[in-house]
Amino acid sequence: MASIFTKIINGEIPCYKVAEDEHFIAFLDINPNAKGHTLCVPKQEINKIFEMEESHYLELMKFSHKVAQALERTVTCKRIGMAVVGLEVPHVHVHLIPINAMQDMTFQHKVSMESSEFEALAEAIQKEI
Ligand code: 5GP
Repeated sequence: MASIFTKIINGEIPCYKVAEDEHFIAFLDINPNAKGHTLCVPKQEINKIFEMEESHYLELMKFSHKVAQALERTVTCKRIGMAVVGLEVPHVHVHLIPINAMQDMTFQHKVSMESSEFEALAEAIQKEI
């Protein structure tokens, strides 16, 4: 099913892109739990992560691993948390969240960022990929 992420993948709406290859894209979450909160998304429209073919799922994990390492080199944090939810956008995505405390993983504590800050952060992470 097409969602807002299909529009981002097709370039119909903008995003702060962090990484992209033939099958996956990573961009900054627009309403981040913490600065650097990134979504890793397969280009194929699939609703639930465990509906993915095993090989495709493992490729998503490999892509997310690469992005998470770049993120950890860019953002000061204790570690990178990972979550899969999908209750808001029914298109598979892995949340990578630079965390310092458990509340950073709750999706209830949000940070606000200017567009210039999103841009600079996406560029800095891209350089670490
Ligand atoms: P979930 O579906 O895992 O519950 O959450 C979807 C996530 O996607 C949320 O963290 C939300 O902020 C993010 N999100 C929703 N719409 C957009 C969008 O148009 N652009 C970006 N970059 N993130 C979005």
